[in-house]
Amino acid sequence: MKDKLIVVAGGGGFIGGHLVAELRQKGFQNIRVVDIKPYDQWYQHFEDVENLQLDLALIENCKTACEGAVEVYNLAADMGGMGFIENNKALCMLTVLISTHMLQAAHGAGVARFFYASSACVYNADKQKSEDVVPLREEDAYPAMAEDGYGWEKLFSERMCRHYREDYGLETRVARFHNVYGPFGTWEGGREKAPAAICRKVIEAKLSADHKIEIWGDGKQTRSFMYIDDCLYGIDAILQSDNVLEPINLGSDEVVTINGLVDIVEEIAGIKLERSYNLSAPKGVNGRNSDNTKIAEYLNWAPGIKLREGMEKNYAWIYDQYVAKYGK
Ligand code: NAD
Repeated sequence: MKDKLIVVAGGGGFIGGHLVAELRQKGFQNIRVVDIKPYDQWYQHFEDVENLQLDLALIENCKTACEGAVEVYNLAADMGGMGFIENNKALCMLTVLISTHMLQAAHGAGVARFFYASSACVYNADKQKSEDVVPLREEDAYPAMAEDGYGWEKLFSERMCRHYREDYGLETRVARFHNVYGPFGTWEGGREKAPAAICRKVIEAKLSADHKIEIWGDGKQTRSFMYIDDCLYGIDAILQSDNVLEPINLGSDEVVTINGLVDIVEEIAGIKLERSYNLSAPKGVNGRNSDNTKIAEYLNWAPGIKLREGMEKNYAWIYDQYVAKYGK
């Protein structure tokens, strides 16, 4: 089966790039990678796979992408951290064109298995009002009150995946990612998420004489963050499973405040910074964590890489990128 055609949509992005690297490492020889970005902007770019630069909002391009494929991973989306999704709701919802057309094309091409990357942003906002967070169980997505824009698109597309499975027999699998982080991701420019943004700000402060950091919100928001290696393991296990038919959490349950995350990065950097809080910046919900009961039960596994361990690798990579771009 190592020569079956596997398609990674959004493979020029953070998670897609890692997925392609992993599939190559596992010995898959027939990989097609598709992304809208010019090749020089892909986070990881491999010459020994088929690379296509296509806009997957268009059905013809999705057909080209899915032709002959046995498995499809759909990781393509117009997305970013809170700063991006709070200010680009229409753009985020337009990703529904990619999600829908990819399902149509995969079904038309006779694809056997289809992975869809959903998000913890599908969860009902009312259940995330307190920093003293109760971990989110899969059923907490309903009654629906998802994150405006981005979250609603994900919820709709999750349901499309379900109906394609039930109505047409396409074996869809859906994971709700909770904040994934790691090397080869966005670390500046406005789409970066909290772990990368905090690393960059700490590095900036460390390399300058200005030992200050601005934190979005009051820093008391609680979150969990999953290292990319756990994410990759989970994607594979979920796609190949025969029991995970409904959307399932794929996230760490090690909860931390944003202040706590800054503490960790300061410790790694060996510096203490003066903190200021920007209360008008996008900060997202007050509390969010992943309930991993279901994944542990279904897959006998749950993400376990410690935040401190993953952030060391993340910090080291962003440090190198920063110095390469801006100097010391
Ligand atoms: P990313 O932005 O790095 O990757 C997404 C890729 O999709 C980008 O390279 C982008 O160019 C591509 N894309 C966008 N529009 C396209 C189009 N019209 N045609 C073709 N390609 C297009 O994001 P990521 O962090 O790798 O996320 C991958 C998936 O996981 C996305 O669906 C995202 O919503 C989901 N997700 C990610 C996280 C996270 O913490 N990173 C959390 C929840 C869900």
